[in-house]
Amino acid sequence: MAFDFDLFVIGGGSGGVRAARLTAAGGAKAALAEEFRMGGTCVIRGCVPKKMMVFASQYSEAAKEADKYGWDISIGDFNWPSFQERLSTELSRLEGIYTKNANNAGVEIFHQRATIKDAHTVVLADGTEKTAKHILVATGGTPFVPDNVPGIEHVITSNEIFDIPELPKRILIVGGGYIASEFACIFNGLGVETSQYYRGAQILRGFDDEARGHLSELISEQGVDLHVGTDVERIDKKDDGLHVKSTDGKVKIFDVVLYATGRAPNVKDLGLEDVGVEQGRGGEIVVDEYSQTNIPSIYAVGDVTDRIQLTPVAIREAVAFHETVFKGNPMTPDHANVPSAIFTQPEYGVVGLTEEQARKDGPIEVYSTAFRPMQNAFIGKPERVMFKLIVCAKTRKVLGCHIIAPHAGEMIQLAGVAVKMGATKEDFDATVAVHPTMAEEIVLMKEPVRSFD
Ligand code: NDP
Repeated sequence: MAFDFDLFVIGGGSGGVRAARLTAAGGAKAALAEEFRMGGTCVIRGCVPKKMMVFASQYSEAAKEADKYGWDISIGDFNWPSFQERLSTELSRLEGIYTKNANNAGVEIFHQRATIKDAHTVVLADGTEKTAKHILVATGGTPFVPDNVPGIEHVITSNEIFDIPELPKRILIVGGGYIASEFACIFNGLGVETSQYYRGAQILRGFDDEARGHLSELISEQGVDLHVGTDVERIDKKDDGLHVKSTDGKVKIFDVVLYATGRAPNVKDLGLEDVGVEQGRGGEIVVDEYSQTNIPSIYAVGDVTDRIQLTPVAIREAVAFHETVFKGNPMTPDHANVPSAIFTQPEYGVVGLTEEQARKDGPIEVYSTAFRPMQNAFIGKPERVMFKLIVCAKTRKVLGCHIIAPHAGEMIQLAGVAVKMGATKEDFDATVAVHPTMAEEIVLMKEPVRSFD
């Protein structure tokens, strides 16, 4: 049977573009449909604009520190429209690069929505049908907002945050995950009166307990009004703002309420049910280790499969898909020991197991230290950094590394190599310290602070 394409990709984000580009560059016929903007969540309304906001929000603190370091500096208000204009230019530039790279590789791009009609056919929004030997679903995720809160229609999500017309004076951020914690620090740094409500006992559920405690203390100390064990009961829009009644019975007024309560797979009306593609309870597309669905010609990569919702993971999945399907080289993406960073201020970099996870298999040793780094001590700033290693007492391998410090994202990338290679505590110890740095502590921790059998 002749198909229009060897591969039709739905979704122009990190995973989809990589798969389409590799396929077309390898000489096969590849097409890609994107209904919004090329680049996907990461480039258009996720990692990239978020990181720009992180950078912007750090200057207020930097100015305060510079003053103590001897500089005569005064910093005015943050100019949100001017920042937005520059952000918009940068995103358009990146979108252009994504489009150009795909075009140059020979990918045919359809700037419209596509849905699946059958195992080998997609339908474009204009009604055109295209057939393909393989279909790859890479539609990513979309913010999830609970529908059981009266007044929820007044809130925004991370999809809208970069486009709000003016910087709020008072913002409430709901949630305790990556996005909520990052934006709490961002808005606090921009000079916005920032509150964060999280329903559980401690933010960042699933991360290392000691690190969660350390980070939430720092976030509070910086000025974020963080309430754990607190959720939103109802929201009323009045002339002076959004009146938010919380589960502790209090009512506070905010200009913007940002819900960062997780992301759901972007599968609505894609045609998956009609074709019989298996989905999980949250709607995620169920795939095997080669990213293949129960319909042999249909594959899926990235957030829509809800394995690990991270851009570099989606890219790895796309590469493995391409090797398997188009190069006859079966390859599975490696989801073990994936380093990542939460871009709070300071950042939290992590690779491997938490102490709580490692204790289940035991025996382990825990090495941990928290201290004021030189740059803070010099100016009397109390903020402490944290370095933590979790070591298997039998093999001596470092099972987990947790760093809370400025630039921890950069540090964990390198620590991630060591952990991935199976480095032992003694390998860390054998490495000479780089002095004077914060990171040298990672090779200088002599005695475990606790051990478990
Ligand atoms: P997360 O899953 O990290 O956090 C969701 C938060 O919302 C949790 O605290 C959760 O609470 C809370 N929540 C869920 N449902 C409700 C509800 N009905 N009412 C109140 N609170 C609720 O999701 P995010 O949206 O922060 O991020 C999504 C994913 O995107 C992340 O998992 C991550 O993989 C990725 N990401 C990565 C970044 C990075 O690498 N730096 C940055 C941003 C996102 P509970 O814990 O109780 O369930």
